[in-house]
Amino acid sequence: MTNNIQFPFLYNHLKDDAETLKNMIVYKLIFLIGRSPKEASQRDWLNATLYAVRDLVTEGWISTAHQARSEETKRVYYLSMEFLIGRTLSNALIAEGIYELTKDALAKLEVDLEDVLEKEVDPGLGNGGLGRLAACFMDSIATLGIPAMGYGIRYEYGMFQQTIENGRQVETPDAWLEKDAPWEFIRPSKRFNIRFGGHIYFEGKKCIWNNDEELVALAYDQMIPGYQNDSAATLRLWSAHAGDTFDLSDFNKGDYFGAIEKRSTIENVSRVLYPDDSTWAGQELRLRQEYFLVSASLQDILKRHKRTHKTLDNLADKIAIHLNDTHPALAIPELMYILIDQEGYEWHKAWQMCCNIFSYTCHTLMSEALETWPVEMMAKILPRHLQIIFEINEHFLDHVRANITSDNDFVRRVSLIEEGHARKVRMGWLSVVGSHKVNGVAAIHSDLMVSSTFADFARIYPERFTNVTNGITPRRWIAVANQDLSALFDKYIGTEWRRDLGQLEKLKSHLHDSELQQAIPQIKRANKERLASYVKKELGVEIDPNALFDVQVKRIHEYKRQILNVLHIVARYNEMIANPEKAWTPRVFILAGKAASAYYTAKQTINLINDVAKVINNDPRLKGRLKVVFIPNYSVSLAQIIIPAADISEQISLAGTEASGTSNMKFALNGALTLGTLDGANVEILENVGEEHIFIFGNTVEQVETLRKNGYHPFEIYQSDEQLRTVIDQLSSGYFSPEEPNRYQDLLNGLKSYDYYQAFADFRSYVETQKLVDQKYQNQQAWVESALQNIVNMSFFSSDRTIAEYAEKIWKTMPLKLSK
Ligand SMILES: *Cc1c(COP(=O)(O)O)cnc(C)c1O
Repeated sequence: MTNNIQFPFLYNHLKDDAETLKNMIVYKLIFLIGRSPKEASQRDWLNATLYAVRDLVTEGWISTAHQARSEETKRVYYLSMEFLIGRTLSNALIAEGIYELTKDALAKLEVDLEDVLEKEVDPGLGNGGLGRLAACFMDSIATLGIPAMGYGIRYEYGMFQQTIENGRQVETPDAWLEKDAPWEFIRPSKRFNIRFGGHIYFEGKKCIWNNDEELVALAYDQMIPGYQNDSAATLRLWSAHAGDTFDLSDFNKGDYFGAIEKRSTIENVSRVLYPDDSTWAGQELRLRQEYFLVSASLQDILKRHKRTHKTLDNLADKIAIHLNDTHPALAIPELMYILIDQEGYEWHKAWQMCCNIFSYTCHTLMSEALETWPVEMMAKILPRHLQIIFEINEHFLDHVRANITSDNDFVRRVSLIEEGHARKVRMGWLSVVGSHKVNGVAAIHSDLMVSSTFADFARIYPERFTNVTNGITPRRWIAVANQDLSALFDKYIGTEWRRDLGQLEKLKSHLHDSELQQAIPQIKRANKERLASYVKKELGVEIDPNALFDVQVKRIHEYKRQILNVLHIVARYNEMIANPEKAWTPRVFILAGKAASAYYTAKQTINLINDVAKVINNDPRLKGRLKVVFIPNYSVSLAQIIIPAADISEQISLAGTEASGTSNMKFALNGALTLGTLDGANVEILENVGEEHIFIFGNTVEQVETLRKNGYHPFEIYQSDEQLRTVIDQLSSGYFSPEEPNRYQDLLNGLKSYDYYQAFADFRSYVETQKLVDQKYQNQQAWVESALQNIVNMSFFSSDRTIAEYAEKIWKTMPLKLSK
C-alpha cells in the first residue's frame, strides 16, 4: 500500500480539545444517526458519543493489528463461549484518558455525560464469573500489548433480563442488538462456511465428509482498548447466517416460504446464550454452538497464518490456542480434521502440532459441570470429528498401556469415551489429552484438580498441570466503578496504579496518615449513598448508609450457599425481636444474582430471599436496624454500583466447590472485608491481607471430605442446634409465606435430609463469625484499618499479573513493542 496517510490520523488533534470533540459528536449525530441536536434523545447522544470515541480507539487498533502482523510474534487465540464485557463507553473514555474532555464536550451541548453513560446497554454475552474473567483478560491483553485475540459468539439474545414478580424470578429476553451496537464493526469479508451432519466414507486412507447442512459464520469485531497505550485488542464474535449456499432444492420445488423458514432455523445457532452456570445441559443446539465457534475461529486463524507464513509447518511455533473451559474443546479434533483431511499431514505430525498449540483452563471440580456429549448425538452432527476422537482415544490408550502401570479399571476411567448403555464423549479428558498445559484458577483449586478430578491424568502427564490464579482488571473495577477511590490513589501514589497495581505497595507508607484514614470511610459512605438511592429508585426500599452493608452478589447456586446467608438473616431477625433493646449494629443484607431458568432450587432461593425481605423490611420492632434487599438483574453494570458500596463481602461457598471466584477480589480491592470459607481464591486473599483483616469460618476441604466419607447427618445438626431448628421450623410453618405455608417444603426437606452443600454443618461457625463482624464494625478505626489492608494488599489479584503468567508459562509469547 502506498499512500501518505500517517497514523495517528485524527487522534492527536483531539487529545485536549473539547470543542473539536464536541463537533465530532455532533457530526456523528447528524450524519450517522440522522438526528438534529434539537431532537436528539439521550440514547442518540450516547450513540453519537460512542461513534466519536470509537474513531479514536480505531486508530490505535489498526496500528496494533499492523504491528502484530509485522512483528510475526507468536499469536494467542482465546476461545470462549462467553465474554461478559460490560458497558464499553465509560471504560473506553478512561482507557483513552478523555473522560473529563468528553464530559466538557457534552456539557457544551447541555448533555450530561453520566446520564448518557447510564443509557448504554450492557451486553450480557455470558453467565457470570467465567465470561467476566474472559472480559478482564481481554482488557489486560490490550493493556499489556499481548498479541492475542478473543473469539466468541455474537448471541442475538444474551443472558435473560431478570425481574422479580411477587418475589419470584421472571425471565425476559435480552434483545440487546435492537438498541444498536455502535461499538462493533461488521466484517463482511470475514465469512466462513460451517458444516454439520451428513456421513463419512473412506477412499483408501482418505476420509471424506459429506455434510448435509451448511451455514455461514460472519465476523463482528469489538475493539478492546488498552489503557493509555494507543492500542486495542480484538474480540471477534461470530454470527450465524443462512448464507446463499444452502438447499436450493426448496426454491426449485417452488417452496419459497419453506426455504426462508429454514434460513431462520439455521440461524438459531447464534440466537441465544445458554443461561446455565455450572451445570451442563446436553442439548443439541449447544453442541452446534460450540462447533460453530470452533470451526469459524480455526478457519480464520489458519487463513491468517497462511497469509503471513505461506505454510502451516511452523504453526505450533507461531500460534497458541487457549480453551476457556471445555466448551471450545472441539477445536482439538477440528484442527486434526483440517491438518489431516484438508492439508494432508499424517496423524503423528498433526497430533504433535495440536498438543503444542492447545492449552486448557479448568473452571470447576463439580462433576455436574463436566461436559460429556452422547456419542449418538455427535455422530449425527459431527461424524468426522467423532471418528477423529475415537482415533485420538486409541492412540492415547495405547500410550497409557505402554507407559503407565495400569489395570483395566484405570484404562476405563481415563478413556475419552464413557462406556455404558449411552456412550459419551468426555470433553474434559479430551481437553487434557490434547493440550500441553492444563491450569486451575486458584492455588487450592489447582491442587484439588490434580488430587481429585484429574488425578489419573496427573499420573500420566504430571508436567502438564499448573496453576494460574485468576485476577480482575483495576481499570473497570476501580477506575470506572470507584472514581472517588481512584482520585484518592492518584493523590497518594500517582496514576500508574491503573496499569501496574503493584503501585499500591506505595500506599503502605501512608497507612497512618490521618487524612487517608478519614478519606476511606468518606468514600465508602458516598458509594453507599449512591447504592441506597439506586435501591430506593428501583425497589422503593429505604436503606440507611450508616448501616453495615453486607453483600452477596453472584449467580444463585446451591454450592454458593445463598441459603446459609438467609438462615443467618432469619436467626438474626429472631434474636433482634427477642432482645429489641440490645445495641444491635444496623445491617443491610444485599443480595443479587440470576438463577438458571430451569434450576428449581435456585429459583426457590430467590423467592425465599424476597419473602424474608418483605417481612423483615416491614417489621416496625426492628426500628430499621435490619433490612434485606434483593436487587434484580445482576450484571456487570450493577456490580459496578454494588461492589464499591460493600462493607462485607460474602464468599461462603462450601470449601472445595468454588474454583476461584473473582468477585471476592473486586470487593477486597474496593475495601470490603471478606467473610468467607477457605475456598477458591479466598485462601490467597487471606494470605495476602493477613488473618486479622478477614473473617474466615467453616469447615476446610478436608473436613468436608471426612464428613462426606463418614456420613453427614444434617438432621442431627438440626436437632441439636436450637437456633437453627427454630429458623427451619419457622420457614416450614409458613411464617414468611403465609399465603402459601408449604412453599419451601422441598427446599427444607432437602436441607434436613441431604444438605449436599453442608450449610447446616457451617451454620454455627457462620453465625458466630457474624457476631465478630458486628463487634469489629463498632470499632470504626479498626474497621478502616482492615479495609485499607485489604486495598493495599490486592496487587497480586490484577488480571495483568494473571495474563503475564499465562503469556510466560503457557502461551510462551511476548508483548508487542508498542510505541507507548
Ligand atoms: C465478577 C462477576 C461475577 C463472578 O462472581 P463470583 O462471586 O466470583 O461468582 C459474576 N457476574 C458478574 C456480573 C460479575 O461482575
